[in-house]
Amino acid sequence: MSTSTPLSLVDVTLEYPDGSGTTTALDRVNLTARAGQLVALVGPSGSGKSSLLATAATLVRPTRGQVLVDGADTAGLKDRELTALRRDKVGIIFQQPNLLPSLTAVEQLIISDHLRGKNAKAARARAAGLLDVVGLSAGADKLPHQLSGGQRQRVNIARALMGSPRVLLVDEPTAALDHERSAAIVGLLREVTTEFNVATVMVTHDTEFVPLTDAVATMRDGRLTAPVLAGG
Ligand code: ADP
Ligand code: MG
Repeated sequence: MSTSTPLSLVDVTLEYPDGSGTTTALDRVNLTARAGQLVALVGPSGSGKSSLLATAATLVRPTRGQVLVDGADTAGLKDRELTALRRDKVGIIFQQPNLLPSLTAVEQLIISDHLRGKNAKAARARAAGLLDVVGLSAGADKLPHQLSGGQRQRVNIARALMGSPRVLLVDEPTAALDHERSAAIVGLLREVTTEFNVATVMVTHDTEFVPLTDAVATMRDGRLTAPVLAGG
């Protein structure tokens, strides 16, 4: 198992073109997430939270600064190498589970592993195990429309874990859910972060869940405060 820090952002600045000038979405951001650590990212709308996750996910290259994933500086990697790094090391969970409508829950997980070129039988066993972890073993053969919003988000979480990532990036996972289901999803993210020893960064507008996290960092106008320890 790797002992490198799963995720480090060092002095990361991200500028988007904006008319004749630029919008600074991230302004010299520093963030480190360790294995088994759940970091909450809070802050007003437009402050740069999603930009931070996209940059950490290597979906967007920073204008300046470094993004290190599992110790590897991503700046020197070609797009093809970044895609491989993302597939092998990063799990991404966005607000709306982007599930394929014609596939059952277990198939959603298997196809993600198929893309990694893994053995189909092993993938099926791992998928079944992960659906069990997220409390959905009874829903394994259901299609997305047969599942509730909370159950779909559980499939999403299980799918993100299929490739044994070192980093989980989660953007407002509870935005579409009621209070009870939101609490259950954040509780599950807490559990899998510990159990799978991943470094999780979770954007949340709901400060109520901060006690379940290890640290909370606040974004404001593209700047990030140093993470402070949370109650959990
Ligand atoms: P948050 O997730 O905290 O609401 P975002 O990261 O989405 O914030 O946005 C941060 C800033 O970057 C905002 O000013 C937003 O308008 C701008 N922004 C985000 N995405 C883009 C984009 N693809 N192109 C141009 N500007 C963007
Ligand atoms: Mg956002």
